[in-house]
Amino acid sequence: MGGAVETRGEYPPEWPAIAMAVKKEAGWRCVRCGHPDPPDLKPRGLAPCDYRCTHDSRWVRTHKKRVLTVHHLDGDKANCVWWNLLPLCQVCHLQIQAKVDPRVPYLWEHTEWFRIYAAGFYALWFGGRQIERPETATEIQYWLTQGQPWLYLRRPDREYGWDDDNEKGAP
Ligand SMILES: [Zn+2]
Ligand SMILES: [Zn+2]
Repeated sequence: MGGAVETRGEYPPEWPAIAMAVKKEAGWRCVRCGHPDPPDLKPRGLAPCDYRCTHDSRWVRTHKKRVLTVHHLDGDKANCVWWNLLPLCQVCHLQIQAKVDPRVPYLWEHTEWFRIYAAGFYALWFGGRQIERPETATEIQYWLTQGQPWLYLRRPDREYGWDDDNEKGAP
């Protein structure tokens, strides 16, 4: 975290199909805020909030568009491994792109939805391993610990260290 991620690389020719598959896998919802964007809705992005949204009711009255997009976590449009492709509405997309660079250490616990993506990135970054989502889910705590040892490893050798009572941060 900290600072915008640098955007680079080129979309592969099969990008439209890849993006479609990512959105479908996400149930046509933003993985961060939960807002729906069903593919058959016209015009796109005008679905109202529903029970899965984290939005308040004010959003319903203002009816801003929330179009589902796919964000490349590491900024590289050529990198289409699963952990790099985040199905996000365009509002969350802009916020995550502006705030999250996975290479920059993030001091606090990741938000629930982001943990699996962070773990996939950490497996490659710290373990040199490109692993699929199910395996990452099985080993999620191991890889989160590799990426953020200060959160999960106790340091009995330190008289003054971090402890588990630190406040959680967002996101
Ligand atoms: Zn969203
Ligand atoms: Zn909503």
